[in-house]
Amino acid sequence: MIKYVMSVICREIEARSLLTKTGIPGSDYCLNPYVGCAHGCRYCYATFMKKYTGHTEQWGTFVDAKTNAPDILRQQMSRLKKCSVIISSVTDPYQPVEARYQLTRKCLAILLEYDCSISILTKSPLVLRDMDLLRDSRDIEVGITITTNDEKIRKIFEPHAPPIGARIHTLKKLHEQGIQPYVFIGPLLPMNPDELSEQIRPYIDYAYISRMNYISKTTYMYRKMDMEHWLDPVFLNGIKRKLHGHLNGKMVHNENNSDIHQIAEGRAMERLKEI
Ligand code: SF4
Repeated sequence: MIKYVMSVICREIEARSLLTKTGIPGSDYCLNPYVGCAHGCRYCYATFMKKYTGHTEQWGTFVDAKTNAPDILRQQMSRLKKCSVIISSVTDPYQPVEARYQLTRKCLAILLEYDCSISILTKSPLVLRDMDLLRDSRDIEVGITITTNDEKIRKIFEPHAPPIGARIHTLKKLHEQGIQPYVFIGPLLPMNPDELSEQIRPYIDYAYISRMNYISKTTYMYRKMDMEHWLDPVFLNGIKRKLHGHLNGKMVHNENNSDIHQIAEGRAMERLKEI
């Protein structure tokens, strides 16, 4: 069945398996309830998924919803019992179609039944819908990705993702509910690091910082904006130092070539070897 959600073509598919073994530190498995991502970030590392799923459309214009995800997950969990799971590695689990399908929510509820250790990473305030489940968990971390404080830059690089203000508001709400969120600042897009740190500092427990790893996708954009210095590792190290300084008192992890996304890609390259 094919449905249209905004300008994105959404197909309903049946997955054979849902949990994928991962090398991401701290997690045994990744869980991706969707193929594709309507946020359509221009730098997205997950576009390689098109190769494995037969999609030829532009990244950001299609989403496949694995409508049997909760059933498959329940079957897999009955064999695995307790484990640690990251939601998600190659899609945003709270992209707009989640409001309709609620696959992330249903999977989250199942993982909680099995007392799993859960790590969520999203750009979307839709994660707040599941506050009841998040509050129930004894072992959960929720990360919000914020790559810049400049909304004009956000619109260029992340055209269909939620605005920066909505993401900061999400951090604030999570913090107020005692969820202890972290921020993933990656890739480092053109920004004012002082202002960004000031905006997020009150609400985060810790931060991950990662520079742009797939510069071939975006070099022409930086060139067009006359901002190529934002790809220079030495310049970016200076930005990182400023973020570190202003986030003083918070734990800050630097991620370079061994970052979560590269590991996620590496694992997925192994032909999505699922259990
Ligand atoms: S939100 Fe994440 S998965 Fe979705 S397009 Fe952006 S970078 Fe890719």
